This record gives sequence, structure tokens and C-alpha cells, in this order.
Amino acid sequence: PLQPRVAIVGSGLIGCSWAMVFASGGFQVKLYDIVQEQVTKALENISKQMKELEKTGMLKGSLKADQQLSLITGCTDLKEAVEGTIHIQECTPENLELKKKIFGQLDLIVSNDVVLSSSTSCLLPTKLFTGLKHVKQCIVAHPVNPPYYVPLVELVPHPETDPSILEKTYALMKKIGQSPVKLTKEIDGFALNRLHENKEGIISATDLDLVMSDGLGMRYAFIGPLETMHLNAEGMLNYCDRYREGMIRVLKSFGTIPDFSGEIEQKINQVCVHIGIL
Ligand code: NAD
Repeated sequence: PLQPRVAIVGSGLIGCSWAMVFASGGFQVKLYDIVQEQVTKALENISKQMKELEKTGMLKGSLKADQQLSLITGCTDLKEAVEGTIHIQECTPENLELKKKIFGQLDLIVSNDVVLSSSTSCLLPTKLFTGLKHVKQCIVAHPVNPPYYVPLVELVPHPETDPSILEKTYALMKKIGQSPVKLTKEIDGFALNRLHENKEGIISATDLDLVMSDGLGMRYAFIGPLETMHLNAEGMLNYCDRYREGMIRVLKSFGTIPDFSGEIEQKINQVCVHIGIL
């Protein structure tokens, strides 16, 4: 049976990969971008990838590539894109002003029960969503590039996000085969980009380990951090251009280094015993 409809706003690297993940789970997908040329390119790219995946037996989900492809339609009209959707996954460039503008536009046209979700790598929910009429429905669902291959998704609520939205997003991510983890509150770099540093108790011990085992670890088994940066944008210089500000902010927010003895040592040990590592 067909699943409900979702919308992807922005059909670049991450948007295309999300569209494939949702289609693999049987969801109907509206893939939106500002220019038709980009939408056409994205649909061609997805078609090529899916056929290749089918040939090599790597296609996700129980539907055939053609069936999955028929679930994805392109669109350049935002209103049409979000009509009747249960979840909107925003995947536009990492630029606060641009994303605020887009969420402002969405705020005017969405229903009161759709989930408004951003793929942002390092913009905080309070910066993105504060002041929106539908702020209670907003959340960050940060994937790892590319989400089709790396299942981890960090869910980061705004202080005003309704707990039911977090749960709904968590369930949806599970349904499409992703591996969601919940952050209790927003913090620069979320958990992924400040791994091992959990002084603030932003994430549970089990979820913190998932960040590595279902996220970064899958990637670092094959490629190192420099190749990752190079591939996550259009080359290293473009990566620095896109993420420089965010990287500086995250690194500055790291506090003092723990001494891994005394109280902190005991606390880490208790957590490990609790989750059955020892
Ligand atoms: P990208 O440049 O590949 O794609 C962005 C797309 O947004 C383009 O197709 C562009 O045409 C479109 N766009 C621009 N303005 C728009 C508008 N007003 N409305 C709709 N679409 C518009 O970027 P990306 O790498 O896919 O990143 C998208 C988001 O995902 C960013 O917030 C980024 O931080 C996040 N993210 C990226 C990675 C990564 O490694 N690339 C990983 C996790 C999260």
C-alpha cells in the first residue's frame, strides 16, 4: 500500500538522497526546487542511481526501481509541493537568511499538523524557527551525507517544538529505515559534530554510540575526514566557503577538556555498564 506524501524542498545532494530514501519506503515524494532545470537534473540523477542500485542488488525497499521512481514527482511551485503532505524536509543551501525566508514562506501555507523539518548541518533551531506561527511543528532532522547509505539522523527540537512532533519524526525515520537519535536540546554542532563531548547531557548514552556506529563510523571505515569534506560539497574550497562559519562556532563552543578521572570517570563507567558495553 502507498504511504502518504512528503515534500523535499531543495533538490541538491541531500534533497535527492532524501527523496530516494522516502521512495524506498513507499512514500509519495514531491521534489521541489526553484528552477525547473535543477528539478529535471535531480530526477535524472535519481533515476540513474536507482537503476544502477537495482542492477547491483543494492536498491533499498521492497518496490522495484521503476515503481519507486514513479512515486517521485518534480515541482517548482511551493504551494503545490507541500499540499497534502505529512512531512516537509527542507534541504536548501546552508544559509540562515535563505532558510529563514523559506520557512517564513512555508509558515504561510502549511497545515497545522505537518512536520516542518530542516536538514541543516549546524544552524540552531532557535535561529531557524523562532517567531514562526507553526514553530511547534518545527524540528531539525540532520542527516549524514548521503542519507541513502548512512542511516543516522539527529533530531533536534526547538524549545517550543511539541513533543508529539519529535515522536512523529522519530517514528517516520524508523519507518523509512533510518536510525534516528534524539537530542534533548539544541547545541552548536548537535551531537555528531561534537562527538565524545556530552557534558551537557544532550543525548542518551545509547544514542551517542549510535552516532558513531550508524553514522560517522560507516563513512570512516572507507574514507577519512579530508576526503569527506571534499565530497560533502563541490570540493574542499567550496566546503570551507559553505561551512566555515559553522565550524568556527562549533569549535569555539567546546568547553574545557575533561580529565577522565574522579567523578567523570565514574559517570562514564556507570553509563557503559548500563548500556551493556562491559
Ligand atoms: P546543495 O547545494 O547540493 O543543494 C541545495 C539545493 O537547494 C539546490 O538544488 C538549490 O537549487 C536549491 N535551492 C536554492 N535556493 C532554494 C530555494 N529558495 N528554494 C528551494 N530550493 C532552493 O546542498 P546540500 O549539500 O544538498 O545541502 C542542503 C542542506 O543539507 C544544507 O543545509 C546542508 O547543511 C545540509 N546537509 C548537508 C550535508 C552534506 O554533507 N552535503 C550533510 C548533512 C546535511
